[in-house]
Amino acid sequence: MCFLFPSFVSCNPSVEEGSPFLNETYYSYGTNPIPGTLPPLSNSYRPVNLSSKTYTLDGQVYSPMNFVTQDLSFIFDVKAKRALGKSIITFEMSEVGIPYFELLATVREIKLNNNIVSFKKIQDPEGQKQTFIALDSSLNPGGRYDLELTYELLPTQLSFASGGVKLLTNMTDLNTSRYFENWGPVSFEDDAFSLSLNLKILNSTSTHALYTNGAATKIDGTEWKINFPDYYTKSSFYVHLTNATDLISKKFIYQGLEREISVQVYSETASLVKDAVATLPSLFAEFETDYGPYAHSTFTAYMHKGSGGMEYVGATITSLGSLDHELLHSWFARGVMPAEGRSGWIDEAFASWRDYNYFQAPSLLSRAATNLAGYSPYRKSTANNSYVDGRQLVAELDRLFADFGGMKPMMKLFFERYKHRVVTNEELWNFLSSLSLMNLDAYFQRYTLGAMSPQVQSLSHDQNDSKHPHPLTPEEVLNLR
Ligand SMILES: [Zn+2]
Repeated sequence: MCFLFPSFVSCNPSVEEGSPFLNETYYSYGTNPIPGTLPPLSNSYRPVNLSSKTYTLDGQVYSPMNFVTQDLSFIFDVKAKRALGKSIITFEMSEVGIPYFELLATVREIKLNNNIVSFKKIQDPEGQKQTFIALDSSLNPGGRYDLELTYELLPTQLSFASGGVKLLTNMTDLNTSRYFENWGPVSFEDDAFSLSLNLKILNSTSTHALYTNGAATKIDGTEWKINFPDYYTKSSFYVHLTNATDLISKKFIYQGLEREISVQVYSETASLVKDAVATLPSLFAEFETDYGPYAHSTFTAYMHKGSGGMEYVGATITSLGSLDHELLHSWFARGVMPAEGRSGWIDEAFASWRDYNYFQAPSLLSRAATNLAGYSPYRKSTANNSYVDGRQLVAELDRLFADFGGMKPMMKLFFERYKHRVVTNEELWNFLSSLSLMNLDAYFQRYTLGAMSPQVQSLSHDQNDSKHPHPLTPEEVLNLR
């Protein structure tokens, strides 16, 4: 394998899959092993050990669609209480295979390059209970293809009430994770694409408001167009369309290190808006100082009194107590993004380490082995022990890297190098090894692919473990819409 830093490329083609670190030759930067800045990644960058998700089932080879652009329309008929989705996708294939994608909806028709095609549901090959939609014939890489899709959104994914529509992209990265596939077609978490979303309401008798982390244009009182940046993935999109009449919103500009950040805080509780507006500037200042300039153009926070929530790119649904944790996720989780659920522990470890005041471990390699990343690449959710075991691991690395200033300078460089990109567990270790010139294989093996201890297995995710919000309950979702 090859290190990815062009300034000190080190290649050892004899090292195969498995440990990415054994037998590496480390190249030095010279006198200082921790540089102040790093060269940018190439456009063709893919993280180490990222699964292609091409697989064979019943003699057929299936390969995921790589979305390039998507024009998506939701048409809400309030009178009929139905929501229609129309999608036009331009996509590419990385490998030969029958294209597949993910969408949890009732599909009516699919056209490939203007021809109606048949389709079927398939399951992931590793028992992760993921359902995909596959087309009927194999395609080759090299070209671009057009897919047109008509579907009905599932009734559970939105509400019709008080003469209008309520839609909130309530996602979670825990347990039975849910991302944008509940509303529109997507590929995997490593697939970034530009999305243009049109929202049109028919037969409404109420007034609607839209909150989003995209650039929204109000066409009239019943139609909006939202353009999302091309680094967004299935876990990024925040869309809240509602006719709720009791939401209080406050906007302000935070002068960031590199840009003016337009911040919007809203809630049905005025005191939460006031408290969040008072808290956010100091949090932005802290995180920009520690980890570098905020990497998104806006920040939107939907504050509520419950304990559930989720982070998005430059947005969150959260309680006041988790606002700091959630804002940090706009650096780690939705700034640098996990390529797969098995790599989701990284951002939770970082955020949880801050939740616990950046403590340093008292010793090295003396804890029981833990499993943070030894999971199927088809698993979407983050391991529940990412908080407890993840922050302990970061605390050990902070001790190990004490001569370099600990983990915070490493995290700053990690963010600078990988912002708007996806990373894997192995990419993180490759990065840390490259910077520290240390062989970190013992840590990588013991703490991210080690046996799961009985103690860890019995841990459930609760607020004693971390400030990360639990998934919104169905009642919370209905209330928040
Ligand atoms: Zn979190």
